[in-house]
Amino acid sequence: MSAPLLPGQPHIHYAQDQLQVEGCSLHDLAATHGTPLFVYSKASMLDALAAYQRGFAGRNARICYAMKANSSLAVLQLFARAGCGFDIVSGGELERVLAAGADAAKVIFSGVGKTRAEMARALQAGIGCFNVESEAEIDVLNEVALSLGKRAPISIRVNPNVDPKTHPYISTGLKGNKFGVAHERTLLTYQRAAALPGLQVVGIDCHIGSQITEETPYLDAMDRMLDLVEAIEAAGIAIRHIDFGGGLGINYNGDTPPAADALWHKLLAKLDARGFGQRHLMIEPGRSLVGNAGVCVTEVLYVKPGEQKNFCIVDAAMNDLPRPAMYQAFHGIVPLRRSADDEQEAQLFDVVGPVCESGDWLGRDRSLHVRAGDKLAVLSAGAYCMSMASHYNSRPKAAEVLVDGEQAHLIRQRDSFADQIRGEKLL
Ligand SMILES: *Cc1c(COP(=O)(O)O)cnc(C)c1O
Repeated sequence: MSAPLLPGQPHIHYAQDQLQVEGCSLHDLAATHGTPLFVYSKASMLDALAAYQRGFAGRNARICYAMKANSSLAVLQLFARAGCGFDIVSGGELERVLAAGADAAKVIFSGVGKTRAEMARALQAGIGCFNVESEAEIDVLNEVALSLGKRAPISIRVNPNVDPKTHPYISTGLKGNKFGVAHERTLLTYQRAAALPGLQVVGIDCHIGSQITEETPYLDAMDRMLDLVEAIEAAGIAIRHIDFGGGLGINYNGDTPPAADALWHKLLAKLDARGFGQRHLMIEPGRSLVGNAGVCVTEVLYVKPGEQKNFCIVDAAMNDLPRPAMYQAFHGIVPLRRSADDEQEAQLFDVVGPVCESGDWLGRDRSLHVRAGDKLAVLSAGAYCMSMASHYNSRPKAAEVLVDGEQAHLIRQRDSFADQIRGEKLL
């Protein structure tokens, strides 16, 4: 018997009541590498990418993986080999994609606070495009490019003022967000940029939010973007590529986002209808490529019955998996080994970590049948978990394994104490 845990995720499944990622038993991986341990399915990542590739078949399109979702080198290498470009948001991310063997020409650089040093390094590396987020940034980038004798290829990030209907912390395309240039000022900003000798306008971009589970915000944003492209081109400024950002959601808790290919089928129909179907298109998906490809394996340290609640204290914590603490996000939590009496013996638990914060919880009111020493898997842990991990409470960062069929590659070893204090100095 083998049943997937999440619809459409066949690679994370129970076989003989043992949880596996592809052909590898999580129990065995935890025994070998310890816990907490992130385990990713390569096939699941490539399947997620394939849905976008199918959606764009026959089009002039580039998928730029938004690497902040999971920036581990082997994950970047996997997407680079699969032909992806990358959306980066810092100089550190640039160094990571270059270290993973990516082609700098396929890199686009987003973010509201690029420093001069980051701009210079990206220009020298020859990145494909700067996604500029403000009028002030345009002037600084122009200066930096001129000082290096270069012209910076730019796109301006437009804030299309559409509501993505997601968590306020991950909604980015509404008035009042810090991102992008206001829709009303876009044409003016393009005219200013086009007049600067250190810049070359190549595109336009937007990114309206994250964990978006409806298609309407995308359709609305696309209309507003295409209106702008028409206005900018009517003013004599050519727009070579249109970048629609990322943001497509995943199923964490019965969420039903559209499939990437189905969504793009609709969006491309709109592009065709408006005469933009043959443009160079770009997208910047992050979470939807990696989120449901990963789990975090954790061991139950203590079961602590409480007056109002039972606590299941595990060895993973908010420093490993910050999403519940940061966004009150839901992650499925399941046992590595199922047994017939699980349902009968289950109790309600808050699953919490060892960190000294009440915000350090991974799941609330979960029905579980657990004892100390049991192992659990926190699901949907491929995106915005390890890339947000910290050393808080002086805890080592977890190890990571990428599974490919029956093969398991350790792609990051657990931090040693020496790793943690590297760079620190006593008085
Ligand atoms: C974070 C981000 C993305 C990716 O968002 P997901 O929700 O992970 O798909 C894309 N573009 C930009 C500019 C971002 O900041």
